[in-house]
Amino acid sequence: MLRRGRKSLAFVLAAAFVLGQLGCSGLFSGRGGGESGGKPAPHFEPGFNLFSPEQDIELGKRSAQEVAQQMPLLNDEPIVTYIRGLGAKLAARAGGHKFPYQFNVVATKELNAFALPGGYIFINAGAIAAAKNEGELAGVMAHEITHVALRHGTNQASKAYIAQKGLGVIGAITGDDSDLGQVINSVGGAGANMLFLRFGRTAEKQADLEGARIMAESGYDPRDMANFFKTLQSQGGQRTPEFLSDHPDPGNRVAAITNALPSLRVSDKPIRDTEAFMQVKARLEGRRAAGSLASTAEPARTGPRDPTTNTSGAARPAPPAPNFQPYSAGDNSFAFQYPANWDALSAGDDGDAQMIFAPKGAYGKLGDALVVTHGIFIGAVAPAASDLARANAAYVQQQLDINADFRVVSQSQKISIGGREGYATTVAGKSVVTGVTEVDIIYTTATADGRLFYLITMAPEDEFESYQPAFRQIINSLQLAR
Ligand SMILES: [Zn+2]
Repeated sequence: MLRRGRKSLAFVLAAAFVLGQLGCSGLFSGRGGGESGGKPAPHFEPGFNLFSPEQDIELGKRSAQEVAQQMPLLNDEPIVTYIRGLGAKLAARAGGHKFPYQFNVVATKELNAFALPGGYIFINAGAIAAAKNEGELAGVMAHEITHVALRHGTNQASKAYIAQKGLGVIGAITGDDSDLGQVINSVGGAGANMLFLRFGRTAEKQADLEGARIMAESGYDPRDMANFFKTLQSQGGQRTPEFLSDHPDPGNRVAAITNALPSLRVSDKPIRDTEAFMQVKARLEGRRAAGSLASTAEPARTGPRDPTTNTSGAARPAPPAPNFQPYSAGDNSFAFQYPANWDALSAGDDGDAQMIFAPKGAYGKLGDALVVTHGIFIGAVAPAASDLARANAAYVQQQLDINADFRVVSQSQKISIGGREGYATTVAGKSVVTGVTEVDIIYTTATADGRLFYLITMAPEDEFESYQPAFRQIINSLQLAR
């Protein structure tokens, strides 16, 4: 089920983006420009940041470990060695802090690549396969390298944090690891990766232009990066790859790269087709024919696109662990037990304790919405009506409005939850992520301070029975403040 809340993580990021627009409008000015003769090459400096470069590396390392657990990494030595060689050559031309760049290949068909802070770069096999020549592949990689060099991930996290906490926190960040954890927890919870995988338009422009410079200095023609954007556009899937994430108009993007060309020293004989590239492409084709590349969702979603197809590399989330662990809301408004192998993610801000509890591979971000395929949403909102029955009805309707394919399959029934009177409503519909029918139960009751407490259990129809005992145990353990 999707959640699109006023106080969701998406809201925090949107606020950060606006702040960035106000605060950093000078960043994208480049140096000089418009002079006759040798136009200076585009040049950018990293923006505002609460983190040190060392913390970028630490954060990236943690996030990369999560990625490695959640995505199938390609273990094909010749392909990975080639990508690492190409990556190292390009990264040597990156500006700024000398991050320990590391390149890995994700074994999925989706055309995508992404960068985590500190130099952890992931290229999907699908992007390698789609590149017509080495120049196009180098373009994508140079773009991702620039996100690292210009520290776009932690810049974004910093802005989100300030947007949430106010400028007063700047003096309070002393730079030890507890502060780091505090910042990340408050802006993204355990889903910090969500924060690093989508950048604003300014960051994307910088990645294009600085990437073009890296390409030219490494012997490539930046026009190949532009060509690759066109390829992506023509293959236009429904999901947006990272490097197309904030570019509604690829035409502008190609034009911006073309405009920068006179300022770049592009070789007369740029590297395009290489023997190594051809061999890697052929190897990938072979693997594809053998069916060994799993199709997973975009990186923001941490698991298989379709949990019902158990193909190689793509499995259903692990079943709920038999042992449970306690959770207690920061404001002591509620407490309960949940399976020990589930993650707890904070998706709200101080005023709204919205949480997700779900196994790895079962939650993520889709556009501006948070999505969970197996697990629970829990939180409290201002009620739409003063009596519980009407507040419940309005809340259920709101969930149906957000999840257009969902219908009520069992009308609201009076139940007891957390020792109080409440309602349970069963809804079902096609999951936008898995494409299979999902059955959700929406529980509501009133909190002691007059808010509407909700707990939504979610599971695909064919896994509903196996998740029921865990959901029942969660609900039985629920305690609400009096
Ligand atoms: Zn990008």
